[in-house]
Amino acid sequence: MSYAQEKQTAIAAVIQAAQLCETVRQGLVPAALEKNDKSPVTVADYGAQALICKALAEAFPGDPVVGEEDTADLRQPNAAPVLAAVTEQVQQLIPSATESEVLGYIDHGNGDVAPRYWTLDPIDGTKGFLRGDQYAIALALVVDGEIKLGVLGCPFLSFGGETGLLLVAVRGEGTVMIPLAGGNPQRLTVADTGDSDRCRVVESMESGHGDHDQQQAIARTLGITAPSLRMDSQAKYAAVAAGQAVLYLRLPSPKTPNYREKIWDHAAGVIAVEEAGGRVTDMHGKPLDFASAARFPHNKGVVASNGAIHDAVLAALGAGLPN
Ligand code: AMP
Ligand code: MG
Repeated sequence: MSYAQEKQTAIAAVIQAAQLCETVRQGLVPAALEKNDKSPVTVADYGAQALICKALAEAFPGDPVVGEEDTADLRQPNAAPVLAAVTEQVQQLIPSATESEVLGYIDHGNGDVAPRYWTLDPIDGTKGFLRGDQYAIALALVVDGEIKLGVLGCPFLSFGGETGLLLVAVRGEGTVMIPLAGGNPQRLTVADTGDSDRCRVVESMESGHGDHDQQQAIARTLGITAPSLRMDSQAKYAAVAAGQAVLYLRLPSPKTPNYREKIWDHAAGVIAVEEAGGRVTDMHGKPLDFASAARFPHNKGVVASNGAIHDAVLAALGAGLPN
């Protein structure tokens, strides 16, 4: 199945959401950043979820959407200015949208995992968004536990060409990259391990979202000497899919050893890597479970690779490397 209508709807919605996020981000004032004011990211997060959920609800009314945000905070009286700001942003793309409609769109994203569902992270990498680094809008369709379609909008990503990239992957059809501003799709393939310029690891920018010491130890065991790329968000999966790195390692942080990863932080990126010829499992080699719940019940850590080095990575992890 080619999921043509799903693909078209998802691409249009993610592009709209990326526009909203960039409008908000470009309006960030340095003073707000110094005060560590989270409100801009909040407005963009809710606004992006509203736009994407509206598009999905209209095109596929029977499909639940498992999204990151809900409106519990936004409905509090003291959040009225935030709701007004979110609505104002949404109105730039949907002029007729009212505050109550915006709340309804966002709440459409509170569905549960089902035989067929969408999962959405309206802004993955909020810290990157605020820092002016990488962030992503991540949307995926899952049918019978298998990711069928992934659309990953990365407004700040560039691999030497244009800045602002969209990755689109359909199961069985490959992964393409398109400039967010429009242009020709380019087919992506993972890099060869022997390509020394690309034989590097990509890992989270945030030290609390992984085990960077252990990740370095694994890289050394594999003979990878290049410094790792550090990026926020699922742009890391894009780097592997586009052959800019051969391995994305996300091992549980020693500070949060029992952390359960969330499906929307991975679904779109996973299919992008798989359809570019790579492989994704948890740190024990098990497939990630997209059939059960919003958080993986039985998976720990994530390993996304070019495929060729995957077994060697799992063997190094299984050998329980010293720190
Ligand atoms: P990244 O940009 O790759 O650092 O990942 C951002 C995502 O990390 C966020 O969307 C959070 O859902 C997720 N996250 C939050 N806490 C943790 C944690 N302790 N370990 C791993 N991921 C986390
Ligand atoms: Mg996220």
